[in-house]
Amino acid sequence: MIDTPLSPGSTIGIFGDGQLGRMLAIAATQLGFKVHIFSPQHGSPAFDVAAFHTTAPYSDLDAVKAFASEVDVATVEFENIPLDTYEHAGKFTCIAPDTKALATSQDRLAEKRFLSSHDIPVAPFVEIDSEADIATAVQKLGPAGLLKTRKMGYDGKGQIRLKADAQGAGANSPGVNLEEAIKAYSGAPSIFEALVNFELEISCVAARDWAGNIVFYDSPRNEHRHQILAESHVPANISEDLEKLARTYTAKIAEKLNYVGVLTVEFFVPPTGGEVPLIVNEIAPRVHNSGHWTMDACSFDQFENHIRAIAGWTLGNTQRHSNAKMINLIGSDMEGWAEFAGSSSANLHLYGKGEARAGRKMGHVTYLSGKN
Ligand code: AMP
Repeated sequence: MIDTPLSPGSTIGIFGDGQLGRMLAIAATQLGFKVHIFSPQHGSPAFDVAAFHTTAPYSDLDAVKAFASEVDVATVEFENIPLDTYEHAGKFTCIAPDTKALATSQDRLAEKRFLSSHDIPVAPFVEIDSEADIATAVQKLGPAGLLKTRKMGYDGKGQIRLKADAQGAGANSPGVNLEEAIKAYSGAPSIFEALVNFELEISCVAARDWAGNIVFYDSPRNEHRHQILAESHVPANISEDLEKLARTYTAKIAEKLNYVGVLTVEFFVPPTGGEVPLIVNEIAPRVHNSGHWTMDACSFDQFENHIRAIAGWTLGNTQRHSNAKMINLIGSDMEGWAEFAGSSSANLHLYGKGEARAGRKMGHVTYLSGKN
């Protein structure tokens, strides 16, 4: 644990090299820290803005030791850093968030069990280890649902969507039937999750320090396309009670995970009058795409607050001064960069990535308007 604030010139280590690592590195650098990125890849978006980098596989524990021994605290920009790697780093430096947060969020089954054990609602689910389990799960929960691999799934990766039968709820939704799902099933340990009927999706982005103090940003309303976040809007125009409940659940999760840093919890909001007012979709133990609007609409954004939290600094004020609409630039959306660059109201953030492949997050743009 860090009980004395890290002094400027200290080094922050970051596992992972994508845009989240890049924006964390920029925030840390602005506070006078040095940044050291550890990544298996060369020439990544985060390398451009960091003082030091190590390129080595995550399995190279000697390289992990050398990296960890040189940094004053280490963190992650991506929850799927192998646990062995992260735990090994923890022998030589302070790590935040706690390994438990990564272990929980790396496995959808562990995550759902963790949430259920703390009375936090999740979509009905069944563990899947064989083709036969899929048929049993469909019998139990109904056909409309998603088969999701337990590990390495994000942005809709590793998911097969099953359609309801002709009359059932979700009959018009995209997806495959049971037979096709069984055929497409990879055999990887998975879960089958019932399709949630939701009115909107929101997320709660919070920052927690070593002493357990926690602050929250206003929850954005999130719109997904092809299971990838497309836009976030603040305010979400949800009731105060709902915002309060999202924060209560997020605080409970953070406390149970002994969490330090920025934590994001994604929620489904079912239609009013349903069984529960909020259902957790998933936990992200890191800064999050749905918090990018904070860079332009708040004095202290999620990246700075993550760095302040892990460095033992006081958390910054999370109040927003504006309404915000954040739009992700994915794949060919990048072709519109000149238009955004030519606008005096488009807050453009580009990640310095080379090829604009389909589904690849290349940047985002935020528009602000008067606060309500
Ligand atoms: P995930 O990768 O699990 O976060 O899923 C990405 C997006 O897919 C979510 O934000 C939802 O829009 C949609 N989705 C995932 N699971 C479900 C579900 N059980 N019911 C309805 N929509 C879902």
